[in-house]
Amino acid sequence: MTSQPTGVGRQWAEQLLPQIKADYSLPQLKHRPAFENRNGVLVCQRCQQVATAQLPDGRHYCRQCLVFGRLVEGDHLFYVPAQAVTLNGAKTAKLTWTGQLTDLQTEAAQQICDVIQTQQTHVLTAVTGAGKTEMLFPGIALAMQNGQRVCIAAPRIDVCLELYPRIQAAFEHQTIMLLYGGQTAPYQDAALVICTTHQLLNFYQAFDVLIVDEVDAFPFQDNPVLAAGVKKAVRPQSALIYLTATPTKAIQQAVQAGAMTTSELPLRYHAIYCQNRIVDRYAVGSSN
Ligand SMILES: [Zn+2]
Repeated sequence: MTSQPTGVGRQWAEQLLPQIKADYSLPQLKHRPAFENRNGVLVCQRCQQVATAQLPDGRHYCRQCLVFGRLVEGDHLFYVPAQAVTLNGAKTAKLTWTGQLTDLQTEAAQQICDVIQTQQTHVLTAVTGAGKTEMLFPGIALAMQNGQRVCIAAPRIDVCLELYPRIQAAFEHQTIMLLYGGQTAPYQDAALVICTTHQLLNFYQAFDVLIVDEVDAFPFQDNPVLAAGVKKAVRPQSALIYLTATPTKAIQQAVQAGAMTTSELPLRYHAIYCQNRIVDRYAVGSSN
């Protein structure tokens, strides 16, 4: 018999409250207005988009994040503050992966650890097949051993489904919550979360470390709702790490503006394997 989750770090539309109260213990349920009035326009506090749609009674609502529960003018967003509960299992996290990182991967892994310790926003550029996931392991272990909550998010469900067993194998004793639309497993408070970028809209200031994989992939690229979900899901003091094969224009601009640090894993690692992948990528690109 498992106890009810507290829902720490989660947020919900007001209309979902009756069900939420049945499913969660909610130790410190707080709320904030669902919209902010900025010079006469209503900005949704979940997805940061302007609410232009109106109900027949004239009240505005947000169409952009409707799928997570409708937010209507005058509504509140309910949430359990991240500091309300100490999550079990974080500090005792143990990396059970026994593989070896190459020198280049070790260097990138150390950079990830530095970013986590100094709570920066960072982009790591690495081609597919460069061993990005393994490079994250030391950083994830470090963060959790410091009692921090870590999330790995990716735009596509198939990427999350592929990541989950690999991360679970690397942290055998850790409870990992896997979240995506249509998933039926009951929610658990977990210090380590793997989810789609859509699911980040259900979190509020929840994560000390958020790693967003494949930011150049559909549907994340150029999607302001998902980008807002990332920014709202992290705690005010946190590390935010973007992983990409090709930095988007927005990321390049953020790096140039000094808002983001950057590093690159060169192709030399597993050169032959990587080169094959690169050829594949270009072949796909040129045929489309
Ligand atoms: Zn919205």
